[in-house]
Formats: sequence, C-alpha cells, structure tokens
Amino acid sequence: MTGGIDPLQLCQEYGTPLYVYDAAIMERQYKAITGAFTYPNVRIHYACKALTNINVMRLFHKWGAGLDCVSIQEVHLGLQAGFKPEDILYTPNFAGMEEFDEAARLGVKINIDAIPMLENWGLQHRDVPLCIRINPHLMAGGHENISVGHIDSKFGISIHQLPHVLRIVESQGLRIEGLHMHTGSDILDVDVFLMGAEILFEAARKFPDLKYIDMGSGFKVPYKPDDIETDVVELGQKLSKRFAEFCSEYGRDLTLMFEPGKFLVSAAGYLFARCTLVKQTTSTVFVGLDTGLNHLIRPMFYGSYHKIINVTEPTFKPRIYTVVGNICETDTFGSDRRIAEVVEGDVLCFYNAGAYGWMMSSNYNSRPRPAEVLLYDGTAHLIRRRETLEDLLHTQISIDL
Ligand SMILES: *Cc1c(COP(=O)(O)O)cnc(C)c1O
Repeated sequence: MTGGIDPLQLCQEYGTPLYVYDAAIMERQYKAITGAFTYPNVRIHYACKALTNINVMRLFHKWGAGLDCVSIQEVHLGLQAGFKPEDILYTPNFAGMEEFDEAARLGVKINIDAIPMLENWGLQHRDVPLCIRINPHLMAGGHENISVGHIDSKFGISIHQLPHVLRIVESQGLRIEGLHMHTGSDILDVDVFLMGAEILFEAARKFPDLKYIDMGSGFKVPYKPDDIETDVVELGQKLSKRFAEFCSEYGRDLTLMFEPGKFLVSAAGYLFARCTLVKQTTSTVFVGLDTGLNHLIRPMFYGSYHKIINVTEPTFKPRIYTVVGNICETDTFGSDRRIAEVVEGDVLCFYNAGAYGWMMSSNYNSRPRPAEVLLYDGTAHLIRRRETLEDLLHTQISIDL
C-alpha cells in the first residue's frame, strides 16, 4: 500500500488522522499521461488546487510539468516551488482585476473567462498576451458540482459569444496566444475530449497568432474496485493524430496542453484515521473515526466513493458497517461497507485521498487539521505538521470586553 513502508508505524510516529502521499504513484501517473501522446509538443500543467503542498509542487516541477493555478496565492506558491512564470497558467474564476494586474506583473500566462475582463484588458495590459477560456457546453462530469460545461455554468465564455469576443479582440488590439476549455471532472468517454477539440479548432481558425490550445482536464480515476479510468492511451493516440492534422491546416505546430489535478495525485494519497468507537444501534453498526467532514469532505460534498479498509486487522472476517466521522453534523463516509471486523483503536484507511482531501479540509468543530507525510525515495518525510490549539487562536484577536 505505502511503498513498503508500514502505515501503522507512520500512524504511530505522526499520529492520526494522517494524510500520506506516495511520490512514486504521482510520478507513474505523470508518466502515463506524458507517454500517451505521440504528438511531440505536449505540455502537462499540474492543476495544483488538488494538492498544493509545496513539496508536491516541487516534485511536478522536477519531473518537467507546468502549473495550473486558480488563485494568485497558488501562483505565488508555484513561484516559490521553482516554476518559472511562463510555465504557470493562471485560470481564476471571478477574480478581481487586482489579481489579474498582479498576474500580469509576475509574467505568468493569463486565462480570461469573462467578457468584461476582456473589454478592460486593453486599458492597462494591451501588450500582455492572453488565453481565452471557452465554454463549449459539453455536458460532462460525474456530479453536478463538478460539471462546469452546462449552458448556465459560471465558467468560461460561451462558444456562442465568440463573435462578441472577436469584436473586442479586434477593436482593442489584443494578442490572443491560447484557447482553453475545462468542462468538468470525471469524464469517462475519450470522445468528449475529441468533440471538445473540434469546437476549439473551429474557434482557433479565427485567431491567427495562437501558440497553444489547452484541453483542460476531467480525467476520471477509479474509486470503486470495478470503476474505469479515462483511457489516456486511447486519448493520446486519437488526439495526437487529429491535433497534428489541425496544426498542419493552421500552419503552425501549436502546443497541446492538459491540466490534470485528480489524475496526477488522487490515487497517490491515503487518509489514515483511528476508530474511536463501534456503536450498534437498532439497525446499523457505526464505526466512528477520529476524523470527519472537516478532513475529508468529498463523500458529503460530491457523494464521492472512497474505498475504506481496516489496516490494523485486514484479515478479520468482514462485517457490514456504516463509517462516520466525529463532527456534530451528519458526516457519513460510507454506508453498508464490508470491512474486516473493527474494534476501537484500529486504524482505517481511505483510498484516493490525494486530490481535494487535505485541501478542502477545515477547522470546523475547532479541530486541528491533520499532518501530511510524503513517501519519497523509500523514506517517509513529514511535509506538514499537525495543527495545534495555538494554530486555531493564531489569527484571532482578543479585544477588551
Ligand atoms: C480544477 C481544475 C482542473 C483539474 O481538474 P481535475 O478534475 O482535478 O483533473 C483543471 N483545470 C481547471 C481550470 C480547474 O479549475
């Protein structure tokens, strides 16, 4: 499970709940996607909102990735992690103009996803080239909260507004160097990407100075045992061929970009938590843990499935449990799960906790957030200490009462 390192020993040493990330799995995923394309000019930007621990960002930098950032703070973290400004694409949504001014000053690539922003761009930054985020209205994605391509989505500029975009670009003399789409998460069917590509190609014919086309992300990863994964090999073959054809028609070899988050880090992460109590009610056996929706909110927020195992006693006879957190809120991680018999003190493990796990954690119920450990080169490294009571008070200011 954790690259030959005993997870129980890690929990002993660093306490629970504990996030553990395996760098070897991140590298495997990065190489799977970069190796899938025969088109030579492919660039993978790590969508770091999935997991912005600076060490994880440094690993992707070391392996040659660029970075996709959705806030100016992520841009600053990326620069600190060693990324060059030109390797960072800044793709915010409803960010204020001051953030864009700062991004322009820092020299990162800028992705605009609203017409008013485009209209104002020429006032101060006419010479700073832009990427435009187009919403192709492909309905894709596993859950309505992560599908961002529908017609009334707040993301991107509708493909139907392209004539308006072109008028602004021409009248303001803007330089458009990239086109972008990102239609949501958990896209199963490779043909969705190919349909998206055709829509971007159609738009690209109207912009003569492009350098890149960014197809976003949405790569699905398996969560359940029989789940399927986006077939990146099939995508790489089909899209490489079609992209090369388009480039020869366009007259220039454009860079083909993707920006996966989940695909790169989800399977690399585990959340370990300890059973505080097993509670039998009239109809259900609850396994309660020393964690909750404050540390892993995906099951409650998206209805997402995380495999759960008993690490302490993996060979005990399975029983049916509903696994819940310790937060005063209904925080059910999974109902009616078959898990090897659990007793108080056992360590349970959640799989696929690398993406949007720690990052979406909070201090709700005034509980501190977990530590993070990175397994790298056969060694476990503490990369974020556990929070303490002092951390909870750190930003508070006591006034005279
Ligand atoms: C969140 C996000 C991604 C990454 O999505 P995943 O489903 O984690 O791969 C990529 N691009 C943009 C613009 C995003 O907001």
